[in-house]
Order: sequence, then structure tokens, then C-alpha cells
Amino acid sequence: MESINNIYSKMGISDVVYNYGEKVLNTLKERFEEIDCIAEYNQMKVLNAMQKNYVSANHFEASSGYGYDDAGRETLEKVYADVFHTEDALVRPQIVCGTHALAVALAANLRPGDEMLSISGKPYDTLEEVIGIRQSNGSLAEYGITYNQVDLTADGEFDLEGIKAAISDKTKLVEIQRSKGYQTRPTLSVEKIAKATAFVKSIRKDIIVMIDNCYGEFVEMNEPSDFGADMVVGSLIKNPGGGLAPIGGYIAGTKECIDRCAYRLTTPGLGKEVGASLGVNRSFYQGLFLAPTVTAGALKGAVFAANIYENLGFKVVPDGKESRHDIIQAVEFGTPEGVIEFCKGIQAAAPVDSYVTPEPWAMPGYDSDVIMAAGAFVQGSSIELSADGPIKPPYAVYFQGGLTWYHAKYGILMSLQKLFDAGIVKEEDLKKF
Ligand SMILES: *Cc1c(COP(=O)(O)O)cnc(C)c1O
Repeated sequence: MESINNIYSKMGISDVVYNYGEKVLNTLKERFEEIDCIAEYNQMKVLNAMQKNYVSANHFEASSGYGYDDAGRETLEKVYADVFHTEDALVRPQIVCGTHALAVALAANLRPGDEMLSISGKPYDTLEEVIGIRQSNGSLAEYGITYNQVDLTADGEFDLEGIKAAISDKTKLVEIQRSKGYQTRPTLSVEKIAKATAFVKSIRKDIIVMIDNCYGEFVEMNEPSDFGADMVVGSLIKNPGGGLAPIGGYIAGTKECIDRCAYRLTTPGLGKEVGASLGVNRSFYQGLFLAPTVTAGALKGAVFAANIYENLGFKVVPDGKESRHDIIQAVEFGTPEGVIEFCKGIQAAAPVDSYVTPEPWAMPGYDSDVIMAAGAFVQGSSIELSADGPIKPPYAVYFQGGLTWYHAKYGILMSLQKLFDAGIVKEEDLKKF
């Protein structure tokens, strides 16, 4: 029988890179056990929600046209509401991505004259145009909705004094972004988000707290909606779609908020009653069912990558030891070449399009060139192994996903192989550990 390092060697991983990887892996046993434990809990949570709502084979059938009485869609939304412990949820293929889900949640719940306040600093890049921080057709700013922001403190904590000072009579909605996105600040734990939510509610109970939950789902045992957030919002081509959802977004929250979201997504009056599921229901259910273990695999990949690169002297966020609150791993290379070689490795490890070479380009919605590596079954899916690097200082690459831990492992080893082949990482560095 062929040995495991032989097959890695055939797959382009040199012995020196492989052996370094195994040494790093040996130090991570306890971390991986912890991740498995969270996945086990979340698997039961999802299973329980499916059983409680009597999910059955007829829920996988497709509706078309208006999509009235789509029992699969309606039950799925109940399952999501139960998983997130909310009153209601909107889970639709008509929500085209995470940005769209967030834009719907914001536009649905804000009115002219209202103010939106972000208390976790600058929101995700694509939201800048939604809000109107960068001028754009149809932004919230064009509708007379103002925006204010309180940055996190230098050590990544909520600035409670600043938040208190920023909340005015106009403040209608507070946004908290759980994941760091394209920044090198720490990701916020559910516990920290819970405290900040309680703090905002203690100032004014009627302020809507909305969480950009992208990349955070199933990383911990609880979700921000377990602690008073009015809406949690995310993309189905990230964690909760489990790699199987081919499109979609979700908003889970209070009945009031979700009603407004449904009226915004479709039309006033029609709301949740329409929206054909077109045959995606089965993948939405099955993806959600797999999401806890898929997320765990991605998390193991993130922890592995952190330790691989930290031990070589690169700055990694989160660091190799820190507890995890999302599946994103940032690695700072300090040079465009580092970012590019890393992404080449991720691409070369993919099951799809492994033979193409990624290049930086001016992606819509981003303010610098971005290089992206993804050889995904679902285009742009970032629960699948993928890496994005904006070509601007500090030249950090944001790495995430992996439908299986083994694929994530191979991708990280391949990224290291590319850096090694390009002379950015040296043999003596790998042998030092
Ligand atoms: C991915 C992401 C979004 C936007 O999602 P898209 O599906 O890419 O539109 C928003 N916020 C955060 C934190 C994200 O990670």
C-alpha cells in the first residue's frame, strides 16, 4: 500500500514541507478535539430543529411561478428560526448574497431620518456602497438615512463610552460585524457581542441590534441571537449552506423585523408568501445539516494555517493559540508576492480549476485590486477552500473554508510549497521548528 506522504509527494508537496506540516499538526490535537466538541453540539441543535418541524421528503420538492404555499420553504424558515432561537427567519434563493441579505435587513428596518450606527468600526467593504459611505446609486444615504460609526478600541474591545455618546434620538439600528472581514482586528466572540447588545439595549430598548453574522455561524455553541440580537444575517455560500446551497442568504430575527425584511425583499403586501424555491430546498436543508461539521473542518484548517505561518515568523490573526470566533484566518506577508504565491497554492489544491493561475483584478465593490483563489463547486463560495488578498498594505491574505479538513490541510501545505518554491520561505526555516 502506498503511504500517505507518498501521495502528498505525488500531489506536489515536498518532504520538507510535509514533515513541517506534520510536526505542526502534532501540537494541535487538543484544539481539534475542542472544535469537534462544538460541532457535535451544533449537529444536535440542527437535527433537533429538523425533527421538531417534521422535515419530510415532500419539503424537497420544487415550486415555480409565484411559489405560493411552498411548504419546503416555509418549514426551512422555521428550522432556521429554531436553530438561531429566533421568532422567524427569511431564507431564500432570491437573496443573492450576504451583502444583499444585509442590505435588505438595513433598508427594511430604517426609514428616512433614521440613523444607523456601526459599533464595530468600519463595516465590510461591500456595505460601504449600501450605506453610502462611498457614494452609490440607491444607497441608504440617498434615502436620507444617516450613518455613524464607533471604532473598536485599540485592543479590539467595544468602546462603551463612545457608543453611549454616539447614540442619539435618531439612532434606529445598531450594526455589529462579528467577523473581521478584510481587516486585521480581532473577530468578536458571541460573549462580547452579547455584552455589547445588552449595553445598547440598556440605553434604549427599542434600538434594533443587527449582527452581520457572516463566517461566524456554528463556530461557537451559541449565536448572537441567543443573547438579544434582533437580527442575525448571513450568506448561504458561507457556513450555514454547508457547501451545498448553490445561492442564498438568510435573516433570522424577531417577527417584526423579519416581516419588514420580507416586505422589502419581495413587495409590501406580498412579503413571505411568494418566492418560488425552484428546486433548491433540498440543498438548503442538506447543507444546513452538514454545516456544523463543514464549519469544523474549515476551523481546523484556519487553526492549522495560523500555526504553520506563525511558526515561520509571519503575523497571523487570530494567532495560533487564540480561541476562534469565525473561520477566517489572516496571514500578513508584507509583500504582494507573498499574497500572490499563497493564493496560487490554494488554487493549485482545488478540485475544480486547479490548473488556472489566479491574478489580481479590480473587483466590483472593493477599493483596491484583489486576488482571489477558489476552485469551488459553487462559484465564489467561501465555505469552500478559498483565499482573498487585497493588493494593499499590510498585504494580508484572508483564507477560509474547506469542505473537508483534509482538503483544507492540502491547500495550506500547497500554499506553503509555493512560498517555498518562490524562495519566500527557506528550508532552514522549515527545519528550525
Ligand atoms: C462575506 C461577507 C459579507 C458579504 O457577503 P457576500 O456574500 O460576499 O455579499 C458581509 N460581511 C462579512 C463580514 C462577510 O464576511
